[in-house]
Amino acid sequence: MRRSGALAAQIRDRLADFLEPGITTLDVDREAERLIAQAGAKSAFKGYKGFPGHLCISINEEVVHGIGSPRRKIQLGDLVKLDVGVVLEGWLGDTATTVPVGPVPPEWDHLVRVTEEALERGIAEARAGARVGQISHAVQKFVESQGCSIVREFVGHGLGRKLHEEPQVPNFGRPKDGPKLRPGMVICIEPMVNLGGPSVRVLSDKWTAVTVDGLPSAHVEHTVLITEDAPEILTPSSRATIAIS
Ligand code: MG
Repeated sequence: MRRSGALAAQIRDRLADFLEPGITTLDVDREAERLIAQAGAKSAFKGYKGFPGHLCISINEEVVHGIGSPRRKIQLGDLVKLDVGVVLEGWLGDTATTVPVGPVPPEWDHLVRVTEEALERGIAEARAGARVGQISHAVQKFVESQGCSIVREFVGHGLGRKLHEEPQVPNFGRPKDGPKLRPGMVICIEPMVNLGGPSVRVLSDKWTAVTVDGLPSAHVEHTVLITEDAPEILTPSSRATIAIS
C-alpha cells in the first residue's frame, strides 16, 4: 500500500501540474488514464458502481464525484478538485487535492487553507488506541471555527483491496464515536468543506455532488497508515511535506 499510495500521490501531483485554462475535464481524465496505465496500475474508480471516469474531477460548487466531460472547459479562476484512486498489484491508494487555477477570491483561498489544515488536524489524531471519532471531531471543530461547513453525505473510509472498507471516517462527530484504531489499519481521511452551508445535492448524471447554495467547496484526502507511533501518510506529496505534530 506504500507503493500504491505513492503512485496515487505522484499522479495527483502530475495532474495538478497538467491543469490549465482551456483544456477540458475529459483531457484531464485521459491524462489520468494514460499515467495510470503507464505505471501498470488501474483506476480504482473506473467502473466502481458504474462510475465512467478514471478520476473524479469537480469544479467550484461541485463537491465530489465530477466526471470528465468534453464540454467542460477549465477556466482561469476555477477551483478544481482532483480525486485519484489507483489499484497497484491488487492494493489501493486514494488521494485528493484542491487546485486553484490562477487567482481566486481571498475567501476561496481561505476555504482551501482551512480544508488542508483540517486534514492535517485529522491525521494528527490518527493514532493507535484513539477512536475514529477523534479524527472526525478534530476536523469538524476546526472547520466550523473558521466559518466554513462540513459536508455530511460523504465520508472517509478504510482502504485495502477494496475502495470502501470499514471503518467509515466521518468529518463530523464526537471524540468517543466509532471504533478504536489499531496499528496496521489504513484509512482515508478526506474532509469536504463548503464555504457556505453544508447541504449538497446530486446532479442528474447521478454522480456529481454540488452545493445547494452554489458556493464553492474544497476536498483534500490522504491515505493514512495507523502505526504504533505517528501516523504515516501513504500518499505524500513529493513537493511538500505535511507536518505531523
Ligand atoms: Mg476516498
